[in-house]
Parts: sequence; structure tokens; C-alpha cells
Amino acid sequence: MSVHTVTKEQFKSFVSALIASDRRVVGVQAKGDRFAFDDLKSAQDLRLDYDVTILPPKKYVLPQQENLLTFQVNGQSQSVCHQQKTVLIGVHPYDMAAINQMDMLFSQGEYDVHYMNRRKQITVIACDVARPSPNVFASSMNTATIDHGYDMLVTNIGSSYVVEVATDKGKELLSLMNGARDASQNDLGARKAVWDKNEGWLNQHKLDCKPSFLPKLLEKSYQHPVWEEKARLCYSCGSCNQVCPTCYCFDVQDEVNWDLKTGCRYRAWDGCLLQNFATVAGDHNFRKKRADRFRHRLYRKGKYVPAKIDGQIACVGCGRCITACTAKIANPVEVYNELMKRTEIG
Ligand code: SF4
Ligand code: SF4
Repeated sequence: MSVHTVTKEQFKSFVSALIASDRRVVGVQAKGDRFAFDDLKSAQDLRLDYDVTILPPKKYVLPQQENLLTFQVNGQSQSVCHQQKTVLIGVHPYDMAAINQMDMLFSQGEYDVHYMNRRKQITVIACDVARPSPNVFASSMNTATIDHGYDMLVTNIGSSYVVEVATDKGKELLSLMNGARDASQNDLGARKAVWDKNEGWLNQHKLDCKPSFLPKLLEKSYQHPVWEEKARLCYSCGSCNQVCPTCYCFDVQDEVNWDLKTGCRYRAWDGCLLQNFATVAGDHNFRKKRADRFRHRLYRKGKYVPAKIDGQIACVGCGRCITACTAKIANPVEVYNELMKRTEIG
């Protein structure tokens, strides 16, 4: 690991050099009054001062839809794997934490070769948050800052950036960064000040317990009336799933081409709030009620996924679901705090 300082102009030249290379370069850009990750055509378009993006960078590690294999109806098939080198610029710490979780989920047990191949082609340049979004609560979820997973981490310290190089992939990119000098003690102090501020600052909603307490809280809350009370307003639109950086459920479908001889198998994002998410053969839906689906999402985040990944809570506090939910019921903090108030914990 090495830590450097570059001026903002030098960083811009670095981004231009990346764009001119053979890599696909994706960065955060303004879209009207909001922000999104998109292919970067010019370094001028990159916005590291954004608050939050509409969709998380998850769409590059687990695309909305991707082909898994092509087949011939006579039984032959070929696996499809992604090979393009991609650089993602501007990933916030909470989104990095979500990618770190997915890296664990897709590599443990059943190793997902499609996810992992794609992931290996991606170099992540993370950046610390410069301003809080209206619904962020990363400080409550311990994801306001991050210390691993990225290849480079960029922190705005005023007139310049502190750039931490964490991996060999990051080191490879450093060779394109002209003018980088070793970070001074002052620069490191300024970066620490940004981290200290963000640890407490990104908290528009405050969770009334430590995240690590959620599995225990949920153990006692399965029959709680809050699920019915909240879900009464739910449209089952699935927006809270679609914008979430930690939701990784997908559906797999086979599609035969018009020649009736060839086809492809693809996967596409699914969402546990959607009415037919749990429908299986015979048209049996084992989560037919809205309240059951609403509860399931909060149990996934606070209990089921943590059981798979060393207790890490599968909500990183990005706040996107809160913004996306028309019915204003998707806020995990509101639900968990309500349970805290109304559940007896022995
Ligand atoms: S549950 Fe909501 S706040 Fe938590 S990570 Fe998902 S979208 Fe973000
Ligand atoms: S976004 Fe809101 S209304 Fe839509 S499924 Fe999620 S909780 Fe229900």
C-alpha cells in the first residue's frame, strides 16, 4: 500500500489517460439534478462531489441482465464470461462495502464463475463522500468510511486529492498518474479529518441500536404487528430491491431463438417484494401476502444474509430505498427502530 497526493488538474489528466487506454472507464456523472454511474467520455464529466447515485455501481458487477451461456437444442452449450477490463471511478464507501459483501456471497460455497470473472476484470477507484445525500445513514451502519476492497481510494482534501493505492491493480493505474508525490503528514492529517467527519456526518436517519444487534432483534420479531402495519401501504413495485446495492437475487430464464435451434440462458435482477418472486412450479406462491414479502426483505438484510457473511448486515445505509419508495415505508431504520421500541428483548 502507498499513499500519494495529486493536484486536481493532475487527477483529471490521469482520468483522461485512462479513457485513452484500452479499458472501459465508468464514472459518476450528473444526470439533470441527480447522479449516475455511466461510461465516461471526458474527464470533465466526472463528478466526485456527488451525494448519491440513482443506481449503485452493483450494475457493473452484477448487470441487470446478462447471458450465462448459449446453447443448441441438440444439447451443446458454451459458457459466456465477461472479459472487458473496466475501471469504476467514484465508488462511495457504502457501495464498496456492498460490493465486498457480494464478493463473499458469490465466491463462498457455490463459486459463481460469471460474477467472479467479471469482478476480476474490474478495478475500483473508490472515493470518500464529499456531501451527504438526503437519506444516507452510512454512519449508523459503519460504512461511512472503508478500509478494503478498493484498488485505489481518493479523498478530496481541498485543493488536492490524497490517493491511496491498495492493490497491484491500483499500482498498475498509478503509472498513468503523472505528478503524484508521496502524501505528507499534513495531507494524511487532512484525510483523517475527512474520515472523522464522515463517521458521524452521514446519518440522516439514526439506528437506535448497533447493527450487530439486529439478528437478535429479528429473532424476537417474526410475528410483530409492524409488518402488517407497514405493508398495508406497499405497492409491491420492487423499487426498494432494484436500487439496493446489497440485493443480489436474480431469476434465470432460457430463451430459444427464432431458428428454434439455438438460444441463450440469461439471468436478470429479481426482487423479493415483487408479487411473483416466490412463485414456484404449480403456481404455488409461498410468500403471497405483502406483509410476508415486506418482512422477508428486512429479515434478509438484518438476519439471513449476516448469517452467511460473518455477521455483516446487508444494509449499508445508502438511503436509496427510502428515496425510491413512493409509499414511504421502505426505510430500514424506521422499521428496526419501531421494533426496538415495541419488542421485549430478554
Ligand atoms: S436497504 Fe435501503 S438503505 Fe440499505 S443498502 Fe439497501 S437501498 Fe441502501
Ligand atoms: S419501494 Fe415501497 S412500495 Fe415499492 S415494494 Fe418497496 S416497500 Fe413496497
